[in-house]
Amino acid sequence: MVGRVIQAAIQRHVSKGLTIERATLAEPQPYEAVVRIEACGICHMDLDGPSLCTLPAVFGHEGVGVVEAVGSAARVKVGDRVILGYGSCGTCPSCTQAHPYYCDQSWDVTFGGRRLDGSATLQDSSGTPLHAAFFQQSSFATHAIVPDHCLVTMPQDIPAEVGASIACGVMTGTGAILNVLNVQSGETVLIVGAGAVGLGAVMAARRAGAGEILVVDVRDDRLILAQELGATAVFNPRMGPMDAWVMTQTGRGVGKLLETSGNATAFASAIASLRTGGHMAYAILPSPMEEYMLKPMPLFEKAARFEALSFGNSVPHDLYPRMLEWWRAGEFPVDRLISKFSLAEINLAMERTRSGDVIKAVLMMDCADAA
Ligand SMILES: [Zn+2]
Ligand SMILES: [Zn+2]
Repeated sequence: MVGRVIQAAIQRHVSKGLTIERATLAEPQPYEAVVRIEACGICHMDLDGPSLCTLPAVFGHEGVGVVEAVGSAARVKVGDRVILGYGSCGTCPSCTQAHPYYCDQSWDVTFGGRRLDGSATLQDSSGTPLHAAFFQQSSFATHAIVPDHCLVTMPQDIPAEVGASIACGVMTGTGAILNVLNVQSGETVLIVGAGAVGLGAVMAARRAGAGEILVVDVRDDRLILAQELGATAVFNPRMGPMDAWVMTQTGRGVGKLLETSGNATAFASAIASLRTGGHMAYAILPSPMEEYMLKPMPLFEKAARFEALSFGNSVPHDLYPRMLEWWRAGEFPVDRLISKFSLAEINLAMERTRSGDVIKAVLMMDCADAA
């Protein structure tokens, strides 16, 4: 493969740490750009990557950086500062009608490991192709190759870690509130799970003028942060059943609910917390390892709407600039969620994300060890 030598965090084994290695990045095709990565957030899908992709692989899908090279027809230019949005094909009916979150080729552009034409974007120092193009980026690296339509220009004065922190999880929570649940001024919303998705939703709900913002999490430190960010009442389900608490808070259950925990017990309790005609959006299903079985009857009894999220129905070109303006105005303090690590500390950052000790780990690539 002809291309540039970069450094990438390669996952070679399911249960072992990632290794920072030299790798070769392909030359950009006409509608692609090579981005020098400044920062990349860690999202839970990076932790789940080995169960969805073949190894060795390079993950990372919350990249921010500077365009360093472009293909012959690219609609970005060298020097542009960009946030790398999630992958989409750019040509299917959903993509051309501004609904890239419903891209017909969503699975392949996210987990396929290659470009849609089947070509590899990255190989290791022995010449072996790597499973890359993760969300069409693979940003756990000093450089990434990205389709130009996935790049969103970012102002020069925004800190790289702020741009990276909103790219996937926080955007999903924000989009869930604004686009999916359509929370209006004065309305009540229940948010289950106070990680990056849930706390993004809390900030978005406050901005939208929600009347009551109820937040549930098993960690008290996160509940305290949720209150500082806008939660009006919080509950730790270690104290008792969530649905009973919701009934005491609301008298009838909630009409709008966002489930972000992916916990099977929380999932069932969330359904029980809905009022008749309620709308529940969920960001992640309980793990198949928990052998979770969804009982349709409680949803049927309540005539409830039950909706899977795909990036919170968010269009990065629309939502990233708005979120950054809110941050600049002090109305969306996403920096409260961030913990910074160097690329060399990636295994520590992954472990702290898995344990829940950090909410949004962001890798700063300038701090990477020299090859
Ligand atoms: Zn598409
Ligand atoms: Zn993500």
